Amino acid sequence: MDRYVKQRLRMVDSQIRSRGIRDPRLLKAMETMPRHLFVDEALRDQAYNDNPLPIDERQTISQPYIVALMTEALELGGNEKVLELGTGSGYQTAILAELAERVFSIERIASLASGARKLLDFLNYFNVAIRVGDGSYGWKEESPFDAIIVTAGAPNIPKTLVGQLAVGGKVVIPVGGRHSQVLMKVTRLSEDVNDLKKEDLGGCRFVDLIGDHGWEY
Ligand code: SAM
Repeated sequence: MDRYVKQRLRMVDSQIRSRGIRDPRLLKAMETMPRHLFVDEALRDQAYNDNPLPIDERQTISQPYIVALMTEALELGGNEKVLELGTGSGYQTAILAELAERVFSIERIASLASGARKLLDFLNYFNVAIRVGDGSYGWKEESPFDAIIVTAGAPNIPKTLVGQLAVGGKVVIPVGGRHSQVLMKVTRLSEDVNDLKKEDLGGCRFVDLIGDHGWEY
């Protein structure tokens, strides 16, 4: 128990449940995850507010509702192998670690990756592997993945990622311009990497996915 319990329960009720998120395992994970530990000490009292917050290196921790929307779209049951691009603070990573069997997360900024690693170890999430690098190539040695989540905005859906998805697997990714994107859910329907079902989950605004299959630095 910590002094943010009430704020956290209120956050889930007023920002998450009220906007239609229904997955009980996800709601439970968000009700218990100490989100305040994933932000700078000076911002802890704002950690449960309805907005993204700055983290180091001019990056952001996503708005709680966006974390919920993207995670629910992955339809995790508990046995999945998940790839995340953009570890950032590690908050989304920790939520995935609660809901899936194994999480592989890639972050291009080393200091963010090591901060997230320390915190995830402290919180006993030992089913997470983090690597520093350009995630737009995916993590081929560990593929196929049942789910891939991209927490930075991309100009398009990188083919490399779809190729690392199991048949029936899902990618959730913000796609569009550098200032606004559409959150896309892409389901791989067969062995053919072009056989995809694409769904629009609504507008969003993310920092750039920087890399060879993303935006230029
Ligand atoms: N999910 C994070 C959280 O809960 O704190 C928020 C991530 S933040 C919106 C996006 C992250 O993607 C940043 O930390 C950024 O450094 C990272 N990023 C951008 N391009 C990347 C790439 N090609 N590979 C890996 N990480 C990347």
